Amino acid sequence: MCDTERVQREAQEGLSWVMEQGAAYADVRVHLDDTAESLVMYDGNLEQNETLSQQGLGVRVLWGGAWGFCGTSDLRRVHDCFARSLGNARTAAALVAIPLEMGEMPGHRSTYQSPVQVDPFSLPLNERIDLLRGLDARLREDWIQRRIVMATTQKKTVQFWNSEGTCIEKRLTNVFGTVMIMAPDKDGQMQRRSHNLYTRGSGTRGWEMITDRELFGNHVDRVKQELADLLPADVLAHGRRSVILLPGQAWLQVHETIGHPLELDRILGYELSYAGGSLVTPGDIGTLRYGSERLNVSSFGNIENSPGSFGFDDDGTPERDYLLIDRGILVNVLSSRAMVNEVNHVAGRTVVKESGGAARATTFYRTPLERMTNVNILPGTDGTVEDIVAATVDGIIVDTPTSWSIGSNREHFHFGCEIAWEVKDGRRTRVLRNPTYQGHTIEFYNALDAVGDASSWRVEQVENCGKGEPNQIMQLGHGVPVVRFDNVLSGEKG
Ligand SMILES: [Zn+2]
Repeated sequence: MCDTERVQREAQEGLSWVMEQGAAYADVRVHLDDTAESLVMYDGNLEQNETLSQQGLGVRVLWGGAWGFCGTSDLRRVHDCFARSLGNARTAAALVAIPLEMGEMPGHRSTYQSPVQVDPFSLPLNERIDLLRGLDARLREDWIQRRIVMATTQKKTVQFWNSEGTCIEKRLTNVFGTVMIMAPDKDGQMQRRSHNLYTRGSGTRGWEMITDRELFGNHVDRVKQELADLLPADVLAHGRRSVILLPGQAWLQVHETIGHPLELDRILGYELSYAGGSLVTPGDIGTLRYGSERLNVSSFGNIENSPGSFGFDDDGTPERDYLLIDRGILVNVLSSRAMVNEVNHVAGRTVVKESGGAARATTFYRTPLERMTNVNILPGTDGTVEDIVAATVDGIIVDTPTSWSIGSNREHFHFGCEIAWEVKDGRRTRVLRNPTYQGHTIEFYNALDAVGDASSWRVEQVENCGKGEPNQIMQLGHGVPVVRFDNVLSGEKG
């Protein structure tokens, strides 16, 4: 067990000590009980019942314009962790071209807790397995070859202290769920249809989310019907047409071609050896026309219940709701405190005024990186899904990713989806198999010509966003409406 009072006292002693050694800034995160539980039911059998629990602390020291970091799972080694972190910063300082600065931020004492009605970890395992078993039973049909039902629950209690006097305690809870079924189509190729638990953006996010039938269980019959419709369907023909993305596909479009390229560390080249760079340059911020006038994109979005809503980032910055793209113009990026000085230096002018509150680390032994919070397309004025379909002459509606291939700078993309519906002269006509579409990011968003209203908007949850070296898996959300793009290359040749 963690002797939290001693750890807290030694953390404060460590912070004072490194500042006396000439550090410009330091912080310590203590993760008291990072716990993740994963249940996977495969064809009615409990394939996975896994619990991962870990505890430890991480110390960052900024000295001579460079970071040093040390993490340990041994909470008796607080002082040693500070000494090693300072040593690492001193070594790194000799290699720094543009010194990092954290800027000024007044110290504050704050707490944050994910809004939760039913703590998933308070429930007996049997109760959670019963939910999966009930869903599996409803998915069962002779013609369905594979059934997968998954639920993942996560919780974290994180204490954060820094050399500015900030003291934060966060309690975070996430709940994810998926149902998926597969069956062979008329050509013997496996088709699949799935549904992921989403949120409405407001309300609570405990176990009550996954038992909310509107968000999860009620989609079972729809998923079965749509898979049945796919099996005898024709393949989408190659050609240019309007493409309407439902939120179940729009989230991935936003994630890969807006979220990742707007991470400031990618823009500055720090992810080139791993996740890639960005089509955006520092000088583009404030001037680049990223998309049409209909494109308004925010970070965080004051969404109450999403894995991308966490109160305070791992720099101690309160989560801020701000625009990344305003009527098509790139106006801001996803940033942490230490990157602001560097991007302004590289751009030769002030392009980022303050941190976007996007510094996040997955756990105690990883350093914070620029990560998406909730990156959202704001609802538009083009009505409901049906209104947009009614205003479409020749197009397809697509939903749910099956494959993605993306340029390392996110300058172009090719996505495959589970299902498409053909739209002819304002009417949804038939289901089509193996839909794909592709484009160049800037050209594609400039062809955005319909954005659904709030009735079509929902928050899609992302459980596994990978980034960093060593890899960090992060959770976040995307609030997205239905969106239509014109003249999009879609379907595969012959
Ligand atoms: Zn990602």
